[in-house]
Amino acid sequence: MKEEKIWLSPPHMGGNELKYIKDAFDTNWISQYGSNIDEFERSLEHYLGKTSYVTALSSGTAAIHLALRLLNVEDGDFVICQSFTFVATANPILYLNAVPVFVDSENQTWNMCPDALEESIKYCIRQGKKPKAIITVSLYGMPFKVDEILQISRKYEIPVIEDSAEALGSKYKGQLCGTFGDLSIISFNGNKIITTAGGGILISRSPDAKNRALFLATQAKDNEEFYSHSEVGYNYRMDNIAAGIGRGQLETLEKKIEQRRKNHDFYQQIVKNNDHIELFSAPDSDFYSNYWLSTIILKNNLVKEKLKEKFSQNNIETRYLWKPMHLQPLYKRYKFFGNNLSGTLFDAGLCLPSGTNLTDHCRARISEVLQNEIH
Ligand SMILES: *Cc1c(COP(=O)(O)O)cnc(C)c1O
Repeated sequence: MKEEKIWLSPPHMGGNELKYIKDAFDTNWISQYGSNIDEFERSLEHYLGKTSYVTALSSGTAAIHLALRLLNVEDGDFVICQSFTFVATANPILYLNAVPVFVDSENQTWNMCPDALEESIKYCIRQGKKPKAIITVSLYGMPFKVDEILQISRKYEIPVIEDSAEALGSKYKGQLCGTFGDLSIISFNGNKIITTAGGGILISRSPDAKNRALFLATQAKDNEEFYSHSEVGYNYRMDNIAAGIGRGQLETLEKKIEQRRKNHDFYQQIVKNNDHIELFSAPDSDFYSNYWLSTIILKNNLVKEKLKEKFSQNNIETRYLWKPMHLQPLYKRYKFFGNNLSGTLFDAGLCLPSGTNLTDHCRARISEVLQNEIH
């Protein structure tokens, strides 16, 4: 008999999600207004700490789109973007007819390379236009080189949009991801560390910015008695049911981080002292990853397609790493700075099951496949 499927990163309920959803039903706030939204935002602001103003939205992608709007990105503007990421980081640049400029990763955090970033800024300035924003990512939960990147951002006075879609609970030098950017975003998509089915937040640094985000997210209605509109808005607000799920999920966040990090320890035990597989791990104690996904790089003659197939035969889901944007049909005509380290990682990498509900039996099945391949 076929064993049950082990998913890469499935949703994991278990707190008070249903209670908060029931509250919404009982009070008839089946709406984009209601106490779950207010409370979810308040709890996240408390968690992230002072000078974090949270706007709850329908997705992380919407949050990136609004972040670009808040920075007045327009037709023809340059926006610098990490190439090694999920496509949702970059797409909002095209929504606004702006021009993405892609930057490669460095090998310690797999995130934006400071040297390539500076090169890309100089290129834009030579074209006569300073970039409007730098979009950094904390891939698979690993914080980017915050000090180095922020220093360049300050030097050239270009704001940072921090895509921490995957990095809720991760820290750099003890400070939480989501608090570094001039604007930051987090996603609650079904595959992320906590979920609202679909959803995300924009984190800004002032009540004015938060109000501006809320204004744009709710169709940009002018302050008039009638329906008056002076600029383009969106229908991007999170709803009160999703926020109810979020409230329940957030209460279990610390436990979920602990479980993801235990998954990483588990993989570390298997691959330690092995020449064929390298587990992607924090370079030093400045970097605290939530290890949203545990990822490996295959070496020597190991081939990712073959290993993925072996897992698949055992009904275990694995995934390739994000394919960098500069290698995507949609984006390959745009400028790219770096040496294609991200492409090399993509070629050799695999994401392993990292759910917070992995049982010991699941672990044993995963271990067996891995051990067979690397000995
Ligand atoms: C998931 C994700 C997004 C998009 O978030 P959604 O909530 O799915 O729109 C953006 N960037 C990265 C790096 C992601 O992993």
